[in-house]
Amino acid sequence: MPGATDTHDSRPAEVATKRVLLAAPRGYCAGVDRAVVTVEKALELYGAPVYVRKEIVHNKHVVTTLRKRGAIFVDETDEVPEGATVVFSAHGVAPVVHDEARALNLKTIDATCPLVTKVHREAVRFADDDFDILLIGHEGHEEVVGTAGEAPEHITLVDGPDSVVDVEVRNPDKVVWLSQTTLSVDETMETVRRLREKFPRLQDPPSDDICYATQNRQLAVKQMAAECDLMIVVGSRNSSNSVRLVEVALEHGSRAGHLVDYADEIDDAWLDGVATVGVTSGASVPEVLVRDVLDYLAAHGFDDVLPVVAAQESLLFSLPTELRRDLKAASGSEPDSVRHDPAATGAGTLR
Ligand code: SF4
Repeated sequence: MPGATDTHDSRPAEVATKRVLLAAPRGYCAGVDRAVVTVEKALELYGAPVYVRKEIVHNKHVVTTLRKRGAIFVDETDEVPEGATVVFSAHGVAPVVHDEARALNLKTIDATCPLVTKVHREAVRFADDDFDILLIGHEGHEEVVGTAGEAPEHITLVDGPDSVVDVEVRNPDKVVWLSQTTLSVDETMETVRRLREKFPRLQDPPSDDICYATQNRQLAVKQMAAECDLMIVVGSRNSSNSVRLVEVALEHGSRAGHLVDYADEIDDAWLDGVATVGVTSGASVPEVLVRDVLDYLAAHGFDDVLPVVAAQESLLFSLPTELRRDLKAASGSEPDSVRHDPAATGAGTLR
């Protein structure tokens, strides 16, 4: 482990007895930040209620906070009253969902992460060229449903390495793989390896589909896992990238790993015999929740916190076009790129 290892390895043994390795990057990615700010700005601009199709991001705290401020989360578009405003979540939607919204005369704001939209565009392009598209992802995940909906007749879902054996294509000379943005990098490469064994002419995506935020958070965990007796990942159970962080920690040597939404879910018994605790958080997790975990650990003697920095992140996305237009009309000036107000949902700045 570069940097942090050099620092803490030279510490006297008694200082290093109980310590926390804190992953960076962790927490909010640019796509989540943009989606959360979109709902906040929509509430400010149009007033409550603002409808949101599905959870805007997969985090219990964020959803609960926005609900208190007037967001109404629905599962399907037809639950939104005719003519109301609906925000589509960061995970993206299939074209048919846009059609449904139009039929109901809804005002839509599309908070799909631009990196998910990129995968949608790839799917459309390869389908137009009549490729068989093998979409690696988790069955039923909203992002996969949205991407598959772009070209259902061309896309076959491949849910992990073990499902490769059942995959069939029309023409093995014209096949490409794409993926969900929040998968395990290592497991996806294993799936691709098996697919390529079966279809040697398999084409790669034009660029990585697993996004920078997913990759960076996994990289940080890999760098510290072997030194950790316990890895605490802050995130919700339906957050794909958060669940992957626990798996990556265990695969790379952490002796235990747990996913928690809140610090009060930590069981004191997890700390029995533990010297080093790793802490990280998924891409949809506000920093305030990590702070609560660090406070809990400090209260249990783990107040020596060492950052493990795997990458620097500075990406920011503009708000959705339709919202920018309305904000500009209301204020007379162009809105900034996303700058989150930590007071709103407890979000913090990545370090
Ligand atoms: Fe976008 Fe990646 Fe964040 Fe998903 S995890 S919202 S794809 S940046």
